Amino acid sequence: MGKVLLISDRTEKIREYSNIFDKKPFEFTTADDEKTVFDIIEINPPDVIIFDNNRNNVKSLIKKLKSAADSTAFILLVKNGIVEQEISKYINAFITEDMSESLVSSIVNANIKTKSALEQLHETNKNLAESLYRLNVLYSTSSLFAGSLDKEKLVNYMIEGMDKSLSFDLTCTLAFCTEEQPVLILNSLYEISDELLSAIKLRTVLNYKSLFEDKKPPFEIDVNTLKVKKTIKYPGKKFTFTIFRYDNMFAPISLGDNFFGCIEIFKEAHFTSDDATYFQTIAQQVSLPLKSATLYQEIKETNDKLEKLERLKSEFISIVSHELRTPLTAIKNSLDILSSGKCGEVDDSGTKFLNMAQRNVQRLTEIINDLLDLSKIEAGKMDYHFAMINIHSVIEYVKTSLTVVAKDKGLNLISEETPNLPFVYADSQRLEQVLTNLVSNAIKFTPEGKTITIRSHIANASQITSNNCFAEDLSKLKGDYIVVCVEDQGIGIAEKDLHRAFDKFAQIENSLSRKAGGSGLGLPIAKQLLEAHNGTIWCESELNKGSRFYFAIPLSAISALKEPVGIK
Ligand code: ADP
Repeated sequence: MGKVLLISDRTEKIREYSNIFDKKPFEFTTADDEKTVFDIIEINPPDVIIFDNNRNNVKSLIKKLKSAADSTAFILLVKNGIVEQEISKYINAFITEDMSESLVSSIVNANIKTKSALEQLHETNKNLAESLYRLNVLYSTSSLFAGSLDKEKLVNYMIEGMDKSLSFDLTCTLAFCTEEQPVLILNSLYEISDELLSAIKLRTVLNYKSLFEDKKPPFEIDVNTLKVKKTIKYPGKKFTFTIFRYDNMFAPISLGDNFFGCIEIFKEAHFTSDDATYFQTIAQQVSLPLKSATLYQEIKETNDKLEKLERLKSEFISIVSHELRTPLTAIKNSLDILSSGKCGEVDDSGTKFLNMAQRNVQRLTEIINDLLDLSKIEAGKMDYHFAMINIHSVIEYVKTSLTVVAKDKGLNLISEETPNLPFVYADSQRLEQVLTNLVSNAIKFTPEGKTITIRSHIANASQITSNNCFAEDLSKLKGDYIVVCVEDQGIGIAEKDLHRAFDKFAQIENSLSRKAGGSGLGLPIAKQLLEAHNGTIWCESELNKGSRFYFAIPLSAISALKEPVGIK
């Protein structure tokens, strides 16, 4: 079907064109005065208008009509096939007075078909633009989803995404953002009266129950106490109960495999099937981020609990250790007095037991000191006294204090140092503590007759490498370091146990380490003390051949000075 309008005042032309177009597939009308023409265009717009060039003021009429009927094809009826340039740009084709009926009919037909093809193209473009826009909204909504672990925010992003693409009048979202209480989130164009709100609440709860058919819903909801959060776009106007006659869509919102809530949206205009697909897609898309948000919440709660437990444990260790120290000091003093002979001579077997008691009190004191140190470090309460220090003095101090212990065990304790090492910014007492632990361990785990060597040198981070489990830690070092190494020829540590040696309370399973005893805290304490210096500790070892324990302290700009002020 093609609608043709002829604008002419010539009766013979009107008759002639009626003969051609006043039959199927055409619908033919004629008009002459402007008002009638405009009325026709408004009420029943034609596909083609044929303008009789013979008519007065035809040019101005064509120009006027162009904006009122821009999708209509304009054909000009001329005498001799000459069209004035001034109006040629407004018309799509021309026909001449002497053209045969069939030619006129086919020209008009071709223009009707072109117009319908253009309209289809226009429609397709419009749909394409709409789809593209929706895809963009979906994309930006997904990005927002990915960036949040807050359930309420996720629900709001979902509603915003729907608003952008569906431009609804009202959404009613029932969401279980927290376990305690559901909340009804209303996003409305206009204000909602109390009566209407009661009806919406009731409707939402019924919708919710309908999702579970005959089964019991996961949560009981009391309409009277249901919490509501309203966002009104234009508070000046009010919705009435007619909102329930609007077109609407409803979808459940899941949380992974579980139920999270449901959403209903209302719009005065009709939703299309594309709208329905989009609505379902976005309501489904929010499921995964909601699940992540729940998991995150659970992990955070567990973490908080663990942190609290860890704090309690540290406090407990600290209190118990302090409480143990006082009686232990009293026992030690008593044993010292007994073994000094001030309370009378002690015979050989008594001395043997006294010595044993003194050794064990010493061991217990060391364990308690380690526990106290660790709890202080973990609570961030360890005191450090940083200054520019000479690493040679640290090594010398430890060597001197442990030479006797080494000798007693038939071991040779020596040092091979690079002379004139630069000063480092460090706490000398803490470094002595670290080195004492390493040398004590070496003495503990090395059999009689062997040698323990302390070495020191400067190295660049690129030279500090290892081919065992510490390689990754060492690859993070940057700049220059002073490296201290304690090498022994003792029992060694199996490759699989190397990293574990630095774990709290770790004692590598072998007969000697069990016999030697210890708290299993020396190395973790050393590790943390070095981390406080921006340094690191690691080891290399081979079972039954020996171990090399290293630690590195950075040579910062200030520590590179050879003779700084305030040397310790
Ligand atoms: P401990 O007080 O038990 O020595 P450490 O944290 O100092 O605690 O050491 C942890 C464990 O690492 C030791 O029990 C031991 O099994 C192993 N270890 C440490 N140093 C050496 C070493 N030089 N040779 C062999 N094993 C060692």
